[in-house]
Amino acid sequence: MTSIDQKKEIFICRECDNVLATLRCSQCKEAWYCSKTCQLSNWKSGHKEQCKKIADEKKLAESVPQAQIDDLVKQEYIEKNTNVRSNWKKDDSIAVNHQFSDNIYPCGELVAYQDFRRIRYTNEEARERERSENFQESLRNAREAAEVHRQARAWLQKEAKPGKRLIDLVEGVESKVRHLCGSQFPEGGVAFPTGCSVNEVAAHYTPNPGDFRTIGQDDVVKFDIGVHKHGRIIDSAFTMCWNDKFKPLLEAVQEATNAGIKTAGLDVRLYDIGAAVQEVMESYEVELDGVVYPVKCIENLSGHDIGLYRIHSGKTVPIIKVECDMNVRMEEMEFFAIETFGSIKGEGYVNETDDWSHFMINYERDDLFPRNKVSRKLFKEIQDNFKTLCWCPRYMERININVDKKALDYLIRDEIVNPYPPLTDLPGSYTAQFEHTICIRPTCKEILSRGDDY
Ligand code: MN
Ligand code: MN
Repeated sequence: MTSIDQKKEIFICRECDNVLATLRCSQCKEAWYCSKTCQLSNWKSGHKEQCKKIADEKKLAESVPQAQIDDLVKQEYIEKNTNVRSNWKKDDSIAVNHQFSDNIYPCGELVAYQDFRRIRYTNEEARERERSENFQESLRNAREAAEVHRQARAWLQKEAKPGKRLIDLVEGVESKVRHLCGSQFPEGGVAFPTGCSVNEVAAHYTPNPGDFRTIGQDDVVKFDIGVHKHGRIIDSAFTMCWNDKFKPLLEAVQEATNAGIKTAGLDVRLYDIGAAVQEVMESYEVELDGVVYPVKCIENLSGHDIGLYRIHSGKTVPIIKVECDMNVRMEEMEFFAIETFGSIKGEGYVNETDDWSHFMINYERDDLFPRNKVSRKLFKEIQDNFKTLCWCPRYMERININVDKKALDYLIRDEIVNPYPPLTDLPGSYTAQFEHTICIRPTCKEILSRGDDY
């Protein structure tokens, strides 16, 4: 991992990933190459088709100012949600699908694409792709899950305060999620253990049975909640504190996440998102008890794309400027969790600890099989109850499954199940996180989990 000079814009060869590309395609002016050879081979392997399309789009975009499209998209967002919410039976004691009629849920914040791709908003082919039944169903599920998320987290934000037990809060919000989803696994419900990582712990902490830790007056708590509907996951997190001295840290991280969301878009390089996040995050300093600390990005944490019943689907969205995978881009119809983590008084780097609570089937390796009867039994119970979603011992206790310690050890040793230990910066440091789930729609970007709160 090497960081790159902030000032210089980097162009990468589309063919061989060389970071010193200096030749630009003269027609579309979008593709860069390090040599004529690379350019020619890329032309043959697909750029020929893309190039004309890009050039035509660019031309068309010249006659439609960005502000005009921005306004159109904003208008649609306001109109759509006003309509949907006008017949809303506002009652969080009933399932969300009974609060809204005809399976139409509020949409997330709609934002136009930022470059010449803005014209996709009015492009008939893009609209056609968007109308496909599959995509519409995905979007419907995502919006329903997002509405569940907003209502469940509103409950949590009201309840969470110093003195409260974390286990009661996470179990409370999880039961709220199940209730608002109005369905049983695998149709919908909690998508992963509710994170409530405290202070130097940045992620992957949830209480195990018998852990009655309470919130302290000076605690900084990251609540990370997952909701899914038919496997379509909304992954969104926020940070709470009760001592105002931590507010600037929260603000820095919230702004950094918003910078990442703003940069995200169709064909955007994941590298560029990391760069945008880091720039905003590191522009902040926090004064704590008379000492000024710079806010650091936690360099080894990142956002990710989301698949069906799969919280990570292969792409990672860095939160710092890194040279890896510079040609990986966001593509149409993909869902992403844009999340950033900031740290003060720490290294901006997290390590694993050994008090495990999160476990998940290793879905990258469906060629592996449990070695004996006990591990086969546990593996089947995991599959039946969680599929490839992440689970924790509390969830097993809830459905009365006694986890055989030996069986779990076998599954972990054979890499059939992976543990996800808490990730922590230095003792005495403070970390914060904000996260939203977005969709790269064919016509525009939708920030699904956006609410009035964050
Ligand atoms: Mn999350
Ligand atoms: Mn996430």
